[in-house]
Amino acid sequence: MVKRNIVKIDEEKCNGCGKCVTPCAEGAIQFVNGRAKVVSEELCDGMGFCVGVCPTGALTIEQRETVEFNQEKAESQEKNTDSTISCFICGQGETSGYLMPLRHDMESLWVCTRCLPKLIHG
Ligand code: SF4
Repeated sequence: MVKRNIVKIDEEKCNGCGKCVTPCAEGAIQFVNGRAKVVSEELCDGMGFCVGVCPTGALTIEQRETVEFNQEKAESQEKNTDSTISCFICGQGETSGYLMPLRHDMESLWVCTRCLPKLIHG
């Protein structure tokens, strides 16, 4: 056991939208009985890419004792692509560019790296 960052899901706040599953490239978060669950703590790297997409604030990062992150196992997980994810400005999908999650006006959005500077600098 090691002390490290790991995602925490507040089941009371989770509305079951499923938006946090795809951003988790390691496959640590899955949809179980209509709610998001960390199904394998060794697959959670604690980076928190999922946190920004949650519309209800159900996801947080906490530091606690858990198993070590298993990078080899994480890299061997099947990579999920989601054709419904695209840049909210230009519409580019995740297979043709880099997308980042962001929050604006209580909405969870994706933006590509080409449109992000325009968003920041106007
Ligand atoms: S994004 Fe948030 S509300 Fe949606 S399934 Fe994941 S934890 Fe639940």
